[in-house]
Amino acid sequence: MGFDLQPALQKRKADNLYRSRRTLEGPQQPEVVIDGKPVLAFCSNDYLGLANHPEVIRSFQNAANQYGVGGGASHLVNGHSRAHQQLEEELAAFTGRPRALLFSTGYMANLGVISALLGKGDAVFEDRLNHASLLDGGLLSGAKFQRFLHCDPASLEQKLARTEAPRKLVVADGVFSMDGNIAPLKDYAAVAQKHDAWLMVDDAHGFGTVGHGGRGVADLFDLGMRELPVLMGTLGKAFGTSGAFVAGSEELIETLIQFARTYIYTTSIPPGVAEATRTSLKILEQDEWRREHLQSLIQRFRLGCEQLGLELMASSTPIQPIVMGEADKALSFSRKLEERGILVTAIRPPTVPKGSSRLRVTLSASHTEEQIDRLLAALEEITREDKA
Ligand code: PMP
Repeated sequence: MGFDLQPALQKRKADNLYRSRRTLEGPQQPEVVIDGKPVLAFCSNDYLGLANHPEVIRSFQNAANQYGVGGGASHLVNGHSRAHQQLEEELAAFTGRPRALLFSTGYMANLGVISALLGKGDAVFEDRLNHASLLDGGLLSGAKFQRFLHCDPASLEQKLARTEAPRKLVVADGVFSMDGNIAPLKDYAAVAQKHDAWLMVDDAHGFGTVGHGGRGVADLFDLGMRELPVLMGTLGKAFGTSGAFVAGSEELIETLIQFARTYIYTTSIPPGVAEATRTSLKILEQDEWRREHLQSLIQRFRLGCEQLGLELMASSTPIQPIVMGEADKALSFSRKLEERGILVTAIRPPTVPKGSSRLRVTLSASHTEEQIDRLLAALEEITREDKA
C-alpha cells in the first residue's frame, strides 16, 4: 500500500533530469569550499557581492543582539519590528513609490499578490517564460490564465483585445531568470494601458544590476506608477540577503496587507535580515563601481565565448547562459568544469524548454578578470575535447 514513488524518480534519472544538491562550507562565491573541495563558482545570484560584505554582516549581527534571531510571528500579529518598518520605508523611497511591503520570499510575494488582486472571472496574462512563482500565482488566483509569446507585445495585445474580464493583469519578469534578457516593458505597459489592464513586473534580477543606482527595470524604462502599478523585487539576489517586497500605491499595499494570504499567514523575515538589507541597500545604491565592474566582466565573458564559438543568449545582464541543447550535453559540460575546479550549474527541462538545456553562468562584482579568464580557458579545453 501507499504511494509508489519510484517510477517517477527512475524516469527523472533516465531522462538525465535528476537534480541533486551540493553542500557549501562557506560563503557562496567566488571561491567556495564544497564537500571539502575548493571550487570557483559562477552560479550565485549575489550579483554585487553583498551577501558577504563586512558591513552587511555587522548589521545582521548587531540586529540579532537587539532583536533576537527569529521574527517570532507574522507581521500582523507581533512580528513587525522597527527594522522591518524602516526597510519598507527605504524600499518605497528607492523605488519612487509611496509604499513598499515586505514578504518572506519572492515565491510567496508572487503567489500572494496575484491571488489577492484577481479571482474567478478576472484574467491574467503571463509571458511564456515567466518565473514559476508568477505562473503558479496566476493559476492559484482562479483567474482565466493565458500565456503570451515570450517578449512579444503583439501576442499580448491579441489576447488582451479578446478579453472582457473586469480585472486584467499583465505579468512579466523584468529580467528573465534563465535567459538573462530584459522584457520589452515600455511596450507591455502601453498595451496594458490601452486595454485598461494593470502591469505587474517581477524585477528579482534587475534590482541592483540595471537602472540608475541599481533601481532596476522601472528606472531603465522610466516606468512610474501609472505605467507599472505593481513592482516586485527580491532581496536574495543583488541585495545579498533574503526575502522580497512589493512597491506601489497606498491602496495596493493596504489591499495586500488585508488580502494576500502569503503575507498574512507566515512569519516575518528575521529583523536581522531586515537590518542587513538596509545596509546592503545603501551600498547597492552608492557603489556604482560594482555595476561598472560587473558590466566589464560581462563584456569580457561574452567576447571570450564568441571567440570560442559558444552560443550565448541576447543578454546584457549578469545572467549569461551558454546554450547546449540536450540535457546530457549540458550536464557533461558542467561535470567537466567541476573536474577542473569550476562550478556552473546545468539548467534542464522542466525549468527551461526541451532542447534548450544550458550552462547558466552568473557573474558577480565579486569576480575578478582573472577568474573570468579561468572559466574561459576551461571552456576552451572542454570544447576542444568535445569536438575531438
Ligand atoms: N522571481 C524570480 C524571477 C526569481 O528568479 C526568483 C528566485 N529564483 C523568485 C521570484 C523567487 O524569489 P525567492 O527566492 O525570494 O523565493
